[in-house]
Amino acid sequence: MTSPRRVRVLGDLYHGRIPAGAVYVGRAAPGLPASRYANPHRVGSCRRCGREHDQADAVTAYADDLDRQPDLVAAARGDLADVDVACWCRENVLLCHGEVLLRVAAGAAPRTALEAVLGGTPAAIPLFARSGSCWNTTPTTTSGTRNR
Ligand SMILES: [Zn+2]
Ligand SMILES: [Zn+2]
Repeated sequence: MTSPRRVRVLGDLYHGRIPAGAVYVGRAAPGLPASRYANPHRVGSCRRCGREHDQADAVTAYADDLDRQPDLVAAARGDLADVDVACWCRENVLLCHGEVLLRVAAGAAPRTALEAVLGGTPAAIPLFARSGSCWNTTPTTTSGTRNR
């Protein structure tokens, strides 16, 4: 099994489709109910907190919210740990609240996840997969039979 990643919603804004095996984490859209993991902080003038957000700021505000909601963090770790998360952002965009969610679901604290995202650390969660030992655990059958 591959690590969960963030994927992009297919189709267009009016006909969004979630890729197979992924969970939508965005706001309400035609045909897509709002996710409890959607980011209420919009880029531009934000109705949630009244500030102007750029992309990084909106993602930061989301991580700050998560940090204050341990219940939501726990829910994300239950719901999203093994699945891809789907958002409207392009897949090569790192400044997406889904990127924070992905890392939080894998066990990172919200602020740690935020730092990784803001710092441009690519790829999913090196936390548990460091040095690749996770998917390299197939036992070797040749051990102990090393005669010359
Ligand atoms: Zn806001
Ligand atoms: Zn996004």
